[in-house]
This record gives sequence, structure tokens and C-alpha cells, in this order.
Amino acid sequence: MSNSHFPPSTESLPHSFRSAVARGLRGRCPRCGDGGLFRKWLKPRDACPSCALDLRPQRADDFPAYIAIFVTGHLLAPVIIMLAGDFALTTMQMALVVFPLALLSLFATLQPAKGAVIAAQWWNGMHGFRRERADEIASP
Ligand SMILES: [Zn+2]
Repeated sequence: MSNSHFPPSTESLPHSFRSAVARGLRGRCPRCGDGGLFRKWLKPRDACPSCALDLRPQRADDFPAYIAIFVTGHLLAPVIIMLAGDFALTTMQMALVVFPLALLSLFATLQPAKGAVIAAQWWNGMHGFRRERADEIASP
């Protein structure tokens, strides 16, 4: 366990909601951007290994799954329309093409979506996260 960001400095804090969410999308701690957010695929750590941010207050619940479904639907809709219009595929052929693509997209999207949701909750100080903004801490 590296303590390079402990106690947390305001320098490592993200400067915007976007940068916090970008850290979450990459599976990194939203506060320091260094420690890994997940101990398993969709299982967040109890605390950041780098800055010791307590990650137990996160309540991502089903929201990452909704995001993954939304993204997958929008990615696959044009593919399905193209397959239905340009190729004379049977229902089974269509399912054989679309189903693996949908699974691939969902598996690729779920963890980044969960990381982004946790980062958004942390940024906004939701569910027991303490709101930490570099500008507010620097100039009280
Ligand atoms: Zn951290």
C-alpha cells in the first residue's frame, strides 16, 4: 500500500466534475486518480489503496447497468438497422450477430460506468462521501 497521497493534498484533487468522472471511467480513485477503484470486476475496494478514501459510502446500485444498457442500445441500433436493411438475415442469423456484440458492449461498459457513477457521487458528496473541492479547500 503506497501512501503517496496520504494525507490527501489538494493538488491531487480533480479540478472539475469531468476530471473526477474521467478518473472513475478509468477505474481510478476519483480523489487522487492513483489508487484502483475495484478489487474485482464490479466490486469496489473498501478504501483507496493510495489516499485511503473510504469507498464504502458509494451507492451505485443499478445505475451503471442502466448506463451500459443505454450505451449498448445506442451503439447497436444502427448495426441492427443496417443488418436488417442491407442483408437478408434470418432472425437466428441476426441474433447470432447481435447477441455477442451486445454482451461485448455490456461487459466493456459496466465497469467504467460504475467507476463514473462512484466518482460522480464522491464529487457531489452523496451518500456519506465528504465533498472535497480543491478550490473550496484552498480558499475557505
Ligand atoms: Zn485515492
